[in-house]
Amino acid sequence: MSIAKYSFRTHGCGELNAELLNTSVVLCGWVDSIRNHGGLIFVDLRDRSGIVQLVSDPETPSFEELSRVKPEWVIKVEGIVRRRPEGTENPKMPTGEVEVLVSSVEVLSSSKVPPFEIDENINVDERLRLKYRYLDLRRPNMMKNLIFRHEVALEVRKFLSANGFIEVETPYLTKSTPEGARDFLVPSRLYHGKFYALPQSPQLFKQILMVAGFEKYFQLARCFRDEDLRADRQPEHTQIDIEMSFVNEDDVLGLSEELIKRIFALASIELETPFMRITYDEAMSRFGSDKPDLRFDLEIIDLTDVFKDTQIGVFKVGNDGIIAGLNPKKVFSRSEIERLTEFVKEEGARGLAWFVKENGELRSPLLKFASEKEIYDLNSKILPDSTLFIMAGERETTLEILGKLRIELARILELIPENQFKVLWVTDFPMFEWSEEEKRYKAKHHPFTRPKEDTLVYLDSNPLKVKAYAYDLVINGVEVGGGSLRIFKPEIQKKIFDFLGIKEDEAQEKFGFLLEAFDYGVPPHGGIAFGLDRLIMIALGLNTIRDCIAFPKTQSGTCLLTGAPDTVSIRQLKELGIEIRD
Ligand code: ASP
Repeated sequence: MSIAKYSFRTHGCGELNAELLNTSVVLCGWVDSIRNHGGLIFVDLRDRSGIVQLVSDPETPSFEELSRVKPEWVIKVEGIVRRRPEGTENPKMPTGEVEVLVSSVEVLSSSKVPPFEIDENINVDERLRLKYRYLDLRRPNMMKNLIFRHEVALEVRKFLSANGFIEVETPYLTKSTPEGARDFLVPSRLYHGKFYALPQSPQLFKQILMVAGFEKYFQLARCFRDEDLRADRQPEHTQIDIEMSFVNEDDVLGLSEELIKRIFALASIELETPFMRITYDEAMSRFGSDKPDLRFDLEIIDLTDVFKDTQIGVFKVGNDGIIAGLNPKKVFSRSEIERLTEFVKEEGARGLAWFVKENGELRSPLLKFASEKEIYDLNSKILPDSTLFIMAGERETTLEILGKLRIELARILELIPENQFKVLWVTDFPMFEWSEEEKRYKAKHHPFTRPKEDTLVYLDSNPLKVKAYAYDLVINGVEVGGGSLRIFKPEIQKKIFDFLGIKEDEAQEKFGFLLEAFDYGVPPHGGIAFGLDRLIMIALGLNTIRDCIAFPKTQSGTCLLTGAPDTVSIRQLKELGIEIRD
């Protein structure tokens, strides 16, 4: 469909081609660039559909008007499409065979000199781009990203609808939801001292929709989490949120695979299904991460057995500990090893042991403390001309730090290939995790996640061994989605609440409405949510999710375009019953 339909132009700039020779056209758009060759004047005119060259010479009445225009002015022109003279075609432009000989020009609006050129090949400071986002979005690559996002949203709606899903909107002004991040709160004017919470996800509502009998629900839902904006996060993000009744885990994963495959196909990326699956335990012990990047190998080697009777002090870890290492095929220098030691220390490690094997010889400051058997065993494990980095300590933390070291080594050794997509499910997440800060167990996903019945026996003796029907989708080391089957039996829900120390009245007060709904016939159900921004970022190979969000916040949570967050008037505060203290 022409972009010119329902408008006072006849064509989009990018729609002109040699089939339209001698057609008289009306075009509108922004002046992209101007080349004045004395006799002739050329103007590139840009609209959303693309760019076309306008031309005028002193003989034509439009010449003077066209000579007056400046970059980013908005103009309307009339003219005739003609073939560009031989030798002046531009094969790089879709409209490069033709130009428009302008007969009249109307300036619709002028523009100040923009603070940066509307050219996607120019590097512009991101703060400036965010402040003048409307100019930044004029750049064709940014426009393209947002159009792709629109296509993804359409495809998601089409695919899910075709599979019997109904899109239902859930409220933005609601009660706290159980995703475990900090809530954004909205004070109530009518009930002083009371607050709405913006949803961290539609979790409770989508489960209630299952009780209501919708069976297959989805929503492109905005979710709000007031977290410290580490890495590439936004205080609000969009989820493809899904919930299904009468399903098991395979049903949710199967549907998800088809959906994800279609999204990537829009970017001409073919993903093979079924996706690989590994359990959380395996992901942790092999890659030190619950979102492993499988574009490169470099797996963790368990050395606990080698050093089980060791005299090396730093390797004495007790029964719950682990000694494990990474063995990149490179002989690292002392200074490189020192830098990596600093790296792991910053991640919380006490230190980093190392053994270098070069020309068949083993070197290490620890060599003189190692037994003959240990040296023999190490020698059989370490690659020729390589470095074996070893860490020892509490299992989970040690593996996690090794996982980070694994990524750092891959970066240094340039092991990460471009344009590859390694997709996998991580399944069987633990039901609980230990919060060192709060000195208590917390639900790893959320307290409605269904535990695997056969692991519930560990609830009292070793809660970390209780596994859940919880799964994450990981692409190239990025978690792009996650979900779970949900508890639908009241006695199991009670067990989990009891274990988490959520008292009856607290449960009632926080999610009593859900528990009450569960008294009225609840189908077995489960679901998943995908981060739309992250999926698009990966599919398009962008460096940041901000490049596929029209109006993102900065890393420090501000909007440079509007100035949000901002102060409000005393009157507004009064109405809300709020007083600001320093
Ligand atoms: N509500 C979960 C989340 O936002 C997803 C799910 O369990 O479906 O992470």
